[in-house]
Amino acid sequence: MIAYLEHFVHGNDTESRTDDDVTSLCKALDLQGSINCGPVDVACKDFGGVKSVEPLAFVRPSSTDDVARLVRAAGGSSNLTVAARGNGHSINGQAMADGGIVMDMRSMEEKIQVLRINGLAYADVSGGVLWEDVLKRCVSGFGLAPRSWTDYLSLTVGGTLSNAGVSGQAFRYGPQTTNVTELEVVTGKGDTVICSESDNSELFFGVLGGLGQFGIITRARVLLQPAPDMVRWIRLVYTEFEDFTRDAELLVTRPEGKSFDYVEGFVFVNSDDLINGWPTVPLDPDHGFDPSHIPPNSGPVLYCLEVALHCWNYDLPSNIDTAVNRLLGPLRFVERLKFQVDLSYTEFLLRVKRAEQHAEANGIWNAPHPWLNMFVSKSGIADFDRLVFRSIVKDGVGGPMLIYPMLRSKWDSRTSVVLPEGGEIFYLVALLRFSPPYPKGPPVENLLAQNHEIIQRCLNRGIDFKLYLPHYKTQEDWKRHFGNQWTRFVERKANFDPMAILAPGQRIFTRIS
Ligand code: FAD
Repeated sequence: MIAYLEHFVHGNDTESRTDDDVTSLCKALDLQGSINCGPVDVACKDFGGVKSVEPLAFVRPSSTDDVARLVRAAGGSSNLTVAARGNGHSINGQAMADGGIVMDMRSMEEKIQVLRINGLAYADVSGGVLWEDVLKRCVSGFGLAPRSWTDYLSLTVGGTLSNAGVSGQAFRYGPQTTNVTELEVVTGKGDTVICSESDNSELFFGVLGGLGQFGIITRARVLLQPAPDMVRWIRLVYTEFEDFTRDAELLVTRPEGKSFDYVEGFVFVNSDDLINGWPTVPLDPDHGFDPSHIPPNSGPVLYCLEVALHCWNYDLPSNIDTAVNRLLGPLRFVERLKFQVDLSYTEFLLRVKRAEQHAEANGIWNAPHPWLNMFVSKSGIADFDRLVFRSIVKDGVGGPMLIYPMLRSKWDSRTSVVLPEGGEIFYLVALLRFSPPYPKGPPVENLLAQNHEIIQRCLNRGIDFKLYLPHYKTQEDWKRHFGNQWTRFVERKANFDPMAILAPGQRIFTRIS
């Protein structure tokens, strides 16, 4: 069978392959799903749009058994690699496999099963399911929802769990990686293993935030909680970075019930620029932004704290107002620059989907996205503001510039996720560039160079930071990224994927022949 696979992928000119060849290969591997050989557009691309490599085959597995068979077959070959592809929303080719097999996780049978164990509710979901489908099924069928989200939900469960998965709930519940209790994983050896904190724990924690290096997540058990009916979504404008961070940190360190349920923030340009400036702040197109409330000596950028409070249908509007006003009381935002809307919980969580539709219509959704995501320690965040927000990107990046605090104690240090070195509070910083393609927008190389400059300035200044959704070209860089976690990461690789078959697009390890 292996010889057949090798012959198939190396021996033939892809264009001369017939449907019969493909059917024979499926049969030889005993696959229920399908195989596509030769150039398959989707497998060569990702959301970043800056990298493109061709796999030898694009496989659509339909079950965990298919995944395991494929990984075993690749392991038996001399040099095949396997990349699980979630929804391909990586930026730097992380879900690609140059000359290897790309496995479309979304083609696996979609399972979302809600269950109760010892009084707690969970959803068992397949690794290739989109979070938006988990949301819809859990809310509409059971009035339940996961506790921790990403801002955008057309991402797969396996894809975000391989990184961390963060949004405005992470300050309270931690990232998505600390909100799953059990995984089914196909390791790089082709073994299917159920793992959790108590069983096969090294694999469980390794895979969470493991950049796809130790196994392919075929099922995850996600913690659920009652879903609220409504959300009051509020934006508050700040002119001073110190006031913005003080208030954001105040809110994320208060106990549950004494704070908002979601806390994020962003930086915007102090101008009437439609894409980067004041017009990006109001939540309702009918709400205007009156710049006369901004003191004339304000800097080139302003800050917006974004918060949300969960509400239930039985809440009286006056009680919601009272609760919100109590929470806003100690905050130092520009009083007349507060914006709010009430919307359903599902609409709130699907808010970026609306932005996607808008961006698609403008041709900037499918353009290159040289994004930069970082975790920056509280100790370095004021320097970061000065060196980056108020200097390098003071004219904006053509899209959101997110900044919000999270708490280290809500992250499990046994997972493979890497955080900055010091302190309880650190910030997510995300430069989500949405420029039109060149020549309408700047050349992508210039934007990549700007990312490089930002990283370099942070290094020179000694700012304590780590890349989130990291991407490096050499193992030396990866070693530096992992720091004192590198040895553990390498040991996990040796245990669970000793031939380095999995997730070659991360460029951490080289396939052993
Ligand atoms: P892919 O890009 O397909 O894969 C990512 C990596 O995981 C690859 O190495 C791949 O091989 C591996 N992988 C995929 N599936 C599996 C699996 N089942 N088992 C093991 N490994 C697997 N992130 C946040 O944390 N918060 C956000 O708010 C957020 N918003 C985003 C908004 C947009 C518009 C975009 C494009 C990205 C956003 N991200 C966010 C980043 C996102 O979480 C990551 O890019 C994630 O990897 C995308 O998931 P995906 O399913 O597309 O994974």
